[in-house]
Amino acid sequence: MTSFPHRSLAVFSRDASFSLPLPPRGFDKTPLCTGDLRLADLWREFENQEAKRSSSEDAPEATDVEQVGPRLGTLRFGDIVVETPTFMPVGTVGSVKALSPHDVHDIGYRLILGNTYHLNLRPGVEVLERFGGLHRFMGWPGALLTDSGGFQVMSLAKIRKLDEQGVSFANHLNGGKVVLTPESVVGIQDTIDSDIQMVLDECTPFPATHDEARASMERSMRWARRAREGRSARTRAQFGIVQGGMYGDLRARSARALRELDFEGLAVGGLSVGEPKAEMRRVLAATVPHLPHDKPRYLMGVGAPDDLFDGALLGIDMFDCVMPTRNARNGTVFVRTAVNPTGKLHVKNAVHKDAEIPLDPGCRCYTCRHFSRAYLRHLFVAEELLVHRLLTIHSLTLLFDLMAEFREALRFDKPWEALLDVRARYVGTSSPAAKV
Ligand SMILES: [Zn+2]
Repeated sequence: MTSFPHRSLAVFSRDASFSLPLPPRGFDKTPLCTGDLRLADLWREFENQEAKRSSSEDAPEATDVEQVGPRLGTLRFGDIVVETPTFMPVGTVGSVKALSPHDVHDIGYRLILGNTYHLNLRPGVEVLERFGGLHRFMGWPGALLTDSGGFQVMSLAKIRKLDEQGVSFANHLNGGKVVLTPESVVGIQDTIDSDIQMVLDECTPFPATHDEARASMERSMRWARRAREGRSARTRAQFGIVQGGMYGDLRARSARALRELDFEGLAVGGLSVGEPKAEMRRVLAATVPHLPHDKPRYLMGVGAPDDLFDGALLGIDMFDCVMPTRNARNGTVFVRTAVNPTGKLHVKNAVHKDAEIPLDPGCRCYTCRHFSRAYLRHLFVAEELLVHRLLTIHSLTLLFDLMAEFREALRFDKPWEALLDVRARYVGTSSPAAKV
């Protein structure tokens, strides 16, 4: 069996020696984010917001606003070290689909996701308790973050009832009734032995009116308090989740409410739920300044290269998304723009039938070092299971390297130029980011 290094409570340290200068002259006209957003414009907007707040009576304290912009940090779980900003592969039911834990670890990942909703239904807490948690059950030597399942309840359960107490729904596996409350979700995650627990929240639908989004956010904040008070001696780190729909004022209120509860980190939830990308950037830019600078910031459910780049640029430390692994299993992988300006490659296309080159000649991954596009296309057309593993390895390696190069760029003498270079090499024209 895999041996497990000693783990302890997650500790985040921001690299305080690092501070990025404002973009030099000339960068004002350079689009750094999707849509019309430019980082220099964003900074000016934040300065204006701060000035308005400090001159308004019912406004929060000026200290409520943190500096925006990319940052470097580390998350430590005992001997396990994760450099941030980082992407986290998703292993919903205790497996990053198509990969072994060794594959995931070999790429470089040390922190992956599990999902409380799914793991609670199957294999269930009794089995996980017997095995002493999910790490040992699945043979994963790294750290685990578990999503609370609020999003899955809203999106998957056909018959559900939501009230102040929590949410009840029919188990899609056997029809039985399941109830999740803020407190019970903490207990389930204690049994999973998560290194980072997410609180149960209500995922606000999109679109929602200001009143709807406010009521939903306020309930999530009451639930967050109950989750915080429901911790046990087994609970490790716990993150609160900022909600508030597409409304900057509600996002700010939500972040303030969570700051009072002193979570070990804060997440931004309820984005990437169907809104345009530029709208997501706008809401994120309005939210980040209200998150504590000395705690990790996690943008949930986001994982395309342009989203990772823009999110990290705005000061997000952690990301997760099923899309990169799901797309890989469907035959679409991310590639660097030198390979295809769109940033994507469809393996099944007939053009690859005789291609002897790898998916991405500049890629270090196992797949690109050993296999041709022609072979991968053959596996895909023949519906051989191996293709799922090989394509997933490639896409997860590319996202790992994008984040590593982003971090490296920040340490260069000319970080802005280096960041633009990373963006040009990883963000393709299939993303709206490249069209501006
Ligand atoms: Zn590769």
